[in-house]
Amino acid sequence: MSPSVKLLLVVACALIDSDNRVLVAQRPEGKALAGMWEFPGGKLEPGERPEPALIRELSEELGITIKEECLAPLTFASFAYPEFHLLMPLYICRRWEGQVASREAQALKWVRPAKLRELAMPPADEPLIPHLIDLLGA
Ligand code: C5P
Repeated sequence: MSPSVKLLLVVACALIDSDNRVLVAQRPEGKALAGMWEFPGGKLEPGERPEPALIRELSEELGITIKEECLAPLTFASFAYPEFHLLMPLYICRRWEGQVASREAQALKWVRPAKLRELAMPPADEPLIPHLIDLLGA
């Protein structure tokens, strides 16, 4: 990677329900990759650790409260977009407080891991799907 490449740190989470389905959120109109389905999360603020960043983002986006010990790292996305290189750890979480609800007008859906393959997802997210299928079954 050339030293001038911009690095973007994003943290994402696969929330998993009692049927082993995974939550995905649709990127809204007006944002990059609008209409694509992604694992919820967002950018780290300067100096922020990944877990508190994820807890903050999921509270803002979904209205849920997550304890840090309920977040487990699963894998890591690394993808070269034209404008930046994205580094994105993916956590899993099975326990949270509150009802998952869209707080930022994004569509949400719970899907079986194998169904993720049928969704249009950002290219950084797609390589994460086999890890979820390995963990949860299809
Ligand atoms: O969500 P936000 O627009 O802040 O994310 C910044 C960039 O990170 C997006 O434009 C997209 O390229 C990338 N991204 C991604 N997969 C995600 C979240 C973000 O590829 N799950």
